[in-house]
Amino acid sequence: MPSPSYVASVGSPLVPPPGVVEAVAATAGTDRREVVLDVVVPVRSGYAFTASAGQVVRFTTVDGPQVVDLNLWSRTDPRERFWAARTRQFYGTHLTTGQRLWSNLPFLRPLATFVADTIAYGRDSDDAGCHDLLGTRCDPYVNQLLSDAPYDFHCHSNLTRAVAGHGLTEFDVHDVINLFQVTGLMPDDKRYFMKTCPAQPGDHVELLAETDLLMAISLCPGGDLAVPLWGEGSDAEPNCNPLRVQVFELAADVRSEIAQLGWGPSERAKYAGVHGTRHGLAQPTGVPPSLADRSTAH
Ligand SMILES: [Zn+2]
Repeated sequence: MPSPSYVASVGSPLVPPPGVVEAVAATAGTDRREVVLDVVVPVRSGYAFTASAGQVVRFTTVDGPQVVDLNLWSRTDPRERFWAARTRQFYGTHLTTGQRLWSNLPFLRPLATFVADTIAYGRDSDDAGCHDLLGTRCDPYVNQLLSDAPYDFHCHSNLTRAVAGHGLTEFDVHDVINLFQVTGLMPDDKRYFMKTCPAQPGDHVELLAETDLLMAISLCPGGDLAVPLWGEGSDAEPNCNPLRVQVFELAADVRSEIAQLGWGPSERAKYAGVHGTRHGLAQPTGVPPSLADRSTAH
């Protein structure tokens, strides 16, 4: 039996300081958080917004099930963005409370942390989970490829339109986390499958912004994904529902409480070795040291 390659245990940077998630979650529904953004995003559309470090972002399925594709960037440098693959290595194929969304290289820090998840889906009888890191966004290119039809409101396009006002393009859109989306791998050949979204009206997830963020969402035109996106049966009308986005500022006493617990805005990983080229642009000479030799003298 193999063991996990990455272990997110207490004291590891892979998990928030103990007590922080609980302290933030306890402010829900109280006057210890103040609304700074509250919008309802229409079906089959995208929306971009900012959240500052220490603010809480809530996504709520107000009327019924709806899959939501989420992208995140550092607000100060959009080259830093969510890295789905590394996040999946850290925690697994589906995320929930206490787990963090990490950024790409050469940054590698938490961009946001799940502090609430009313779905709390776990694993079902098909070994499927919710809040999917296995897949990515739907897009018009694969739609054209598989259906020979142009369609402008897939998640990739919705995200592209959403971030255009922030100076970004479709090249900035990246692999998503699919909130409220249930997925898994076939037991025999591990092909990807999607199941109907289980979210009920009022279900929500909350993310604590770990740094200043630009976030963008797409309300998937597949809606609750009960209808296949491609192939047989895909001509039926998907069940689509709007999504509420809220951003909250935590009260000063909560901010100082979590600071005392050890929380602060995340910092980029401290590696500064420039990949062995620190002595010039020439390639290093000789045999490179083994991984076990972590001396900085090379
Ligand atoms: Zn989609």
